[in-house]
Amino acid sequence: MIALNDGNQIPQLGFGVFKVAPGQAERIVLEALEVGYRHIDTAAAYHNEQEVGRAIAASGIPREEIFVTTKLWNSDHGTKAAHTAMDASLEKLGLDYVDLYLIHWPRPDLDLYVETWLALEEMKSAGKTRSIGVSNFTIAHIERIIAASGTVPAVDQIELHPAFAQRELREFGKSKGIAIEAWGPLGQGKYDLFGMPPLADIVAAHGVSAAQVVIRWHLQNGIILFPKSSSRERMAQNFDVFGFELTSDEMASIDALDQGMRVGLDPDTNTNQ
Ligand code: NAD
Repeated sequence: MIALNDGNQIPQLGFGVFKVAPGQAERIVLEALEVGYRHIDTAAAYHNEQEVGRAIAASGIPREEIFVTTKLWNSDHGTKAAHTAMDASLEKLGLDYVDLYLIHWPRPDLDLYVETWLALEEMKSAGKTRSIGVSNFTIAHIERIIAASGTVPAVDQIELHPAFAQRELREFGKSKGIAIEAWGPLGQGKYDLFGMPPLADIVAAHGVSAAQVVIRWHLQNGIILFPKSSSRERMAQNFDVFGFELTSDEMASIDALDQGMRVGLDPDTNTNQ
């Protein structure tokens, strides 16, 4: 568990459901809960909140034992749209509250993210979400919402993997008490992360998979992550990462893979609707 700056706790290792095929999400989330995950990361834009909610209900696990995150989509910025979006997400999930509600992208072209952030504060006060945070916000975006509201986001969920290690944002988060969540923690399979030279040696030294090594690197850096897999075997493998520890030399050799290489969109220019 990681303590958030508002006093709430979040399981450091969760399960993400981006691009989980509709019609499969319920089974996959149910399997993830059976494997032991207690933190599910979804979003309105993933079009599977309903299935996530059904899986949570079907699991029989008490609601308070599962940490649920969802996100406000780019077309829902602004006070009124934000409140409507939150209510729609709760309804689809079949929940009274989520544990964490995030602004998915800042959409600086709209210049509404400050207003949206103030709406998230109201949702927290109303008990619709336990914690509020942002995703894909740069230091400048975060500084602006803090200046306008006086509230520091509990988390910033950002693209983060060995080739894009986000040192500056991580340092900034540390200085402000903002927990960092990694999206695409395994590089989304968009480059040959697992084939990179230091990983093979570390894999051999510990007798684990390359994915497990990368997950350990995140965990030991204090990062919250929720790798996605549709296969039960990989889900279980990704959760089985507490029986070994990377040495500081091994951590440093993975740190050295940083190339400032994004595989996803740039928050300053993403205007997807
Ligand atoms: P990821 O880095 O978790 O990569 C997922 C891919 O890695 C899967 O398609 C799978 O093929 C592969 N994989 C998983 N486990 C493996 C294993 N043990 N061995 C080999 N390959 C394995 O990428 P992601 O799913 O995009 O990111 C994780 C979560 O982050 C998402 O599901 C979503 O919840 C969140 N996310 C958020 C944003 C955002 O803008 N906030 C963007 C993308 C993703």
